[in-house]
Amino acid sequence: MKKGLLIILSGPSGVGKGTIRKKIFKNKKLNLVYSISMTTRKPRKKEIPNVDYYFVSEDIFKENIKNDNFLEYCQFVGNYYGTPKDKVEQWIDNGKNVLLEIEINGANQVLSKVKGDNIVSIFLLPPSLEELEKRIRLRKSESEEVIKERLEKARREINKTEGYDYIVINDDLNRASKEISEIILNKLKNISK
Ligand code: 5GP
Repeated sequence: MKKGLLIILSGPSGVGKGTIRKKIFKNKKLNLVYSISMTTRKPRKKEIPNVDYYFVSEDIFKENIKNDNFLEYCQFVGNYYGTPKDKVEQWIDNGKNVLLEIEINGANQVLSKVKGDNIVSIFLLPPSLEELEKRIRLRKSESEEVIKERLEKARREINKTEGYDYIVINDDLNRASKEISEIILNKLKNISK
């Protein structure tokens, strides 16, 4: 069976990765599955455990690191985040296209481990830093201190996108979702040649 495509979607906190993901998942031609990450961060109001994230304690996260259960993991603004590797490998082997919504350090770990044709990386940019700040504040889920840290992190991330195959600007949700769907469909066409 033909292997699936591994899709890395990165972008600063608040840029709209989750919203875009929900939109592109409606396109059944893309044959997508979402890799649910494990995190030590506390759930936000609207987040559903085991759907948005596997929310775990730091002890459990570290146990998983020790047991080599992650494809990649990182620390981000005081919390751990990681991609459980067993399911990702199974899905790819079964021809599913797997979306990883991860930050830059994790993306680099994946890019150095997974070689070959069946991987594509996309970085989603906000139209401006001012717009990003507005979106993070609208979410009303973080303290002022965490907002500042996330914005500082975003400033640094935005300047480190050179390893990515594609940069997409989230100026308009429908347009950006369409662009990302097309990137994935094109890549699928090329690897099936
Ligand atoms: P948030 O707390 O806003 O949900 O996520 C913070 C950052 O961590 C985001 O950039 C998000 O994409 C990233 N992230 C989420 N899950 C993972 C993961 O499993 N690995 C890595 N490296 N980053 C992740």
